[in-house]
Amino acid sequence: MKKRDYYEVLGVAKNATEQEIKKAYRQKAIQYHPDKNPGNKEAEEKFKEAAEAYEVLSNAEKRARYDQFGHDAVSGASGGGGFNMNVEDILSKYGFIFENFGFGTFGGSFGGGGGFSSHRQPERRRGTNIRIRVKLTLEEIAKGVDKNLKVNKYIACKECHSTGAKSADAVKTCPTCKGRGFTVHVQQSVFGQMQMQQPCHQCRGEGKIITDKCPHCSGNGIVKGEEVINVKIPAGVENGMQLSLSGKGNAAKDNGRNGDLIVLVEEEKHSIFERDGNNIYMEYYISFTQAAMGATVEIPTLDGKAIIKIAPGTQPSTLLRLNGKGIPTMRGYGCGDLIVNVNVWVPKKLTKEEKQMLETLSTAENFQPQPPKQASFFQRVKRFFE
Ligand SMILES: [Zn+2]
Ligand SMILES: [Zn+2]
Repeated sequence: MKKRDYYEVLGVAKNATEQEIKKAYRQKAIQYHPDKNPGNKEAEEKFKEAAEAYEVLSNAEKRARYDQFGHDAVSGASGGGGFNMNVEDILSKYGFIFENFGFGTFGGSFGGGGGFSSHRQPERRRGTNIRIRVKLTLEEIAKGVDKNLKVNKYIACKECHSTGAKSADAVKTCPTCKGRGFTVHVQQSVFGQMQMQQPCHQCRGEGKIITDKCPHCSGNGIVKGEEVINVKIPAGVENGMQLSLSGKGNAAKDNGRNGDLIVLVEEEKHSIFERDGNNIYMEYYISFTQAAMGATVEIPTLDGKAIIKIAPGTQPSTLLRLNGKGIPTMRGYGCGDLIVNVNVWVPKKLTKEEKQMLETLSTAENFQPQPPKQASFFQRVKRFFE
């Protein structure tokens, strides 16, 4: 893509003054500010384009080179580094231009904080987050569980105490910024005295430079390692839930703040139970004779066995509800139920003797089907059309 003329980008004349250029850039920057144009790629490009133009035209030396030789003179290796700032860089470098707009003169004291109150300070280093999955059985979910998880993560380098330096002598206060991490420039403009704060080029905002890197971590201050982390999973969690453990993620250089550990809950499929919210369901088969004569049977639950009574004359697909035998709610009060679908197993094959026994019963009055008086809606509809 052909680059537009920088003067054209800012909409100023070739002989524009420093103040005119600043004013023009301010207007463009406010117009295309990412906060005002969220998700608008075109605005973002314009915002970057304006910053690039301002970067060159606001610097007397770069501007002279540009006037004489064009774009090639101020970009690429020959021009002393290309323009590759992203929006965040632009905001931190030139944010003052719009943040302070409208406040008129702002002198302010150095170091006292007053002059820099609206500047974006570089954040303290923070490690990245780690995401892991943990598989849980329904039994574990019903009771809550303590898991010791082995997590691969970046940990602080012990050799250099996370500084990244080979020895204490290898850390020097940055001579350019005197350890502040930024440099300050004062300029006169139509708006009064302007203070410009830029991240220090020599130390990249760190305030110090390392002359000899720690060989163990190559100067990163962190190394690959692992940690066993205890995760307390409360009862009642659901598939897809995330638990966030603050400060248990990757370490950061210079003993910065750790990232977080994000634990994604995965519920294992159960061989017997099916979960629906806080209730659980199961199929249970009783025999033909148990259904007819009634019985006391033992069924599995999420915590051990339970004894249930089967009433004589139990029909197939009878639902039994065991209160409080489901999954507890996460808030800690209340609990779902266990719902048992009682089915009747009809023998699929019979011996001669069994057949004879049943044949004597086949004509017995009690063995004739007696459908319930309150027939189901489906049955009534069927009968209606018969
Ligand atoms: Zn180290
Ligand atoms: Zn510095």
